[in-house]
Amino acid sequence: MQTQRTLDEFKNEPFTDFSVAENKKAMEEALAKVTGELGQKYPVVINGEKIELDTHFQSINPSDKTQIIGEFSDADRDAETLVNRAIDAATNAFQSWRNVSPEVRAEYLFRAADIIRERKHYFSAWMVLEVGKTWAEADGDTAEAIDFLEFYGREMIRWGGDQPITPSPYSEENKFEYIPLGVGAIIPPWNFPLAIMAGMTMSAVVTGNTTILKPSPDAPTIAYKFMEVLEEIGLPDGVVNFVAGSGTAVGELMVSHPKTRFVSFTGSKAVGLKIYEEAAKTREGQNWMKRVVAEMGGKDAIVVADDANLDEAAQGVVAAAFGFQGQKCSACSRLIVDEKVHDELMEKVVGLTEKLKLGSPNYPDTSLAAVINQNSFDKATGYIQQGIAEGGEVVAGGKATDDDGFFIEPTIIDNVKPKTTIEQEEIFAPVLAVIKADNYDHALEIANDTQYGLTGSVYSESDERLERARRDFHVGNLYLNRKCTGALVGVHPFGGFNMSGTDSKAGGREYLLQFMQGKSVAKKK
Ligand code: NAD
Repeated sequence: MQTQRTLDEFKNEPFTDFSVAENKKAMEEALAKVTGELGQKYPVVINGEKIELDTHFQSINPSDKTQIIGEFSDADRDAETLVNRAIDAATNAFQSWRNVSPEVRAEYLFRAADIIRERKHYFSAWMVLEVGKTWAEADGDTAEAIDFLEFYGREMIRWGGDQPITPSPYSEENKFEYIPLGVGAIIPPWNFPLAIMAGMTMSAVVTGNTTILKPSPDAPTIAYKFMEVLEEIGLPDGVVNFVAGSGTAVGELMVSHPKTRFVSFTGSKAVGLKIYEEAAKTREGQNWMKRVVAEMGGKDAIVVADDANLDEAAQGVVAAAFGFQGQKCSACSRLIVDEKVHDELMEKVVGLTEKLKLGSPNYPDTSLAAVINQNSFDKATGYIQQGIAEGGEVVAGGKATDDDGFFIEPTIIDNVKPKTTIEQEEIFAPVLAVIKADNYDHALEIANDTQYGLTGSVYSESDERLERARRDFHVGNLYLNRKCTGALVGVHPFGGFNMSGTDSKAGGREYLLQFMQGKSVAKKK
């Protein structure tokens, strides 16, 4: 195996234009193919061995509750045995995988990227059906997965090369190199079921670690489809072990196991904090302090100043608030607007929102589909009621039905006051809170006043104001005069401050370092 791929020629995977008849047809064919593959049974995979268990859980289509996407061998009942077996397999595999050269490890990622690129719409179609992504959102997720594989492969080649050190004053040869950590627990969310899951898994793998991957119970089929890619590229057995089950049974055991060297988690603040705490405890037989990489939630705001281009601001707000039903960690869930332009802006925002089409994601003209599950539906509709009870006024949407799927209209609640529940807590659904600010300073103050610090945008025509936001708006990903969603790998390294995570940046130049440790070797000449 050899590679010629370098960071210099890394380019983001282009998105598909579904208005081109040929692309539309290809996606329709992919959806038909995937529909023909629904309802199959999937095993646990440990050391390359596919193990069918007696009990299964179902993954269902959130936009059509009667449709079963897949049935998964449920590791919960025998969680301890299965997690132990998977961690043993990963521990054994680590002994050889850690000695595979960075270039060869990277090559596996490049081959996985090639396969996904070749069957792009097939993977996107699984996301349309399993998590309710529209065509464009699913296509973006697939493109991002390809980007992570291409980017982290190249990054590993860079970190595997000579590292700069100061010349020694002694007669010796010095080398500084990065080595892997060991066995990692990989615990992804369901909302970027291909990109984030594959990025988290393969960043750990490319750096020489071995893993146990517990997919989200809401998106296990897409993760299994990725496992099939890893089998196809001949990734050695035991490097990625796949154990589907609940967070509370399988996930907690993965985190607490003494042979787990690190945890890579993306999900909610509540679970992330629990994992952080559990991983800090040392257990018998444990020889290290576990590392935790945790990417958590957000309460992201778009600030619109009185001098903003209001048409552009309205478009950015609606796209960022309602894309994928507001179920992105980067989604705009707060619009903070200078009261002088509030009415004019809201007319535009409500107008655009009313044009959105809520329905089945199987069709290309759908703008948004169902939220992921009953729990999420109940929580979000509860938040809408709470927003009203706290004095907010629903100015768009507000209705919801869970008869066939978990559909919530894109909902805007105006006149929300700072510090109220729906202004502070992550809702993770198509619910936008609008808050009036007295002026620009006040708007920034409100924007910063949550526990989170993930993404944010400012719309203003004033360079001075934008510079102030650059300095004072405390978010990991700040966008000026554009929407706060849609980060591109390599271009916008992604990750937040404060309760949004451990300050790591996925798709950035420092990301892989979290899964490696530096070793300095001095040899006397
Ligand atoms: P979640 O926290 O409910 O679950 C995430 C994963 O953790 C799942 O695999 C789940 O099974 C597992 N889990 C649950 N309880 C566990 C426990 N006690 N121990 C170990 N594992 C456990 O989150 P979710 O609903 O899947 O995803 C949505 C959340 O993820 C939102 O809060 C969103 O903001 C966040 N998110 C953040 C980023 C980011 O980059 N910061 C990206 C995507 C999603």
